[in-house]
Amino acid sequence: MEDCLFCKIAAGEIPSNKLFEDDKLLAFYDIDPQAPVHFLVIPKQHIASAAALTEDDAALLGHIYAVIAQLCKKLGVDESGYRVVTNVGADGGQSVKHLHFHVLAKRSLAWPPG
Ligand code: 5GP
Repeated sequence: MEDCLFCKIAAGEIPSNKLFEDDKLLAFYDIDPQAPVHFLVIPKQHIASAAALTEDDAALLGHIYAVIAQLCKKLGVDESGYRVVTNVGADGGQSVKHLHFHVLAKRSLAWPPG
């Protein structure tokens, strides 16, 4: 999608610090980390947010969560734990209108979030 920051990152038009990539998704480190480990996982296909997901996206979502689990194991945070968050809309704190999953780890995270 034109003028979408994460579509441009997915296409390699804007550089990112990549952790993992395949034909369906990209995982890369957040530019403004909120924890010692903070990366984002995005589908390459433009989906505006979790509010736009349908049953047809079930396989994509399963793949995203499987990749997150593999990456957290590789980064050695699978036992200490981590948080997966997707923000939706203004009240949810979404600033980039392309579905993304934050993965935060290596610090104790408060609940509920602010
Ligand atoms: P949101 O606020 O939409 O849930 O999360 C967007 C995230 O994207 C933020 O954590 C922000 O730091 C990150 N971000 C924004 N622009 C860039 C960028 O150009 N590169 C990277 N790697 N992360 C970005």
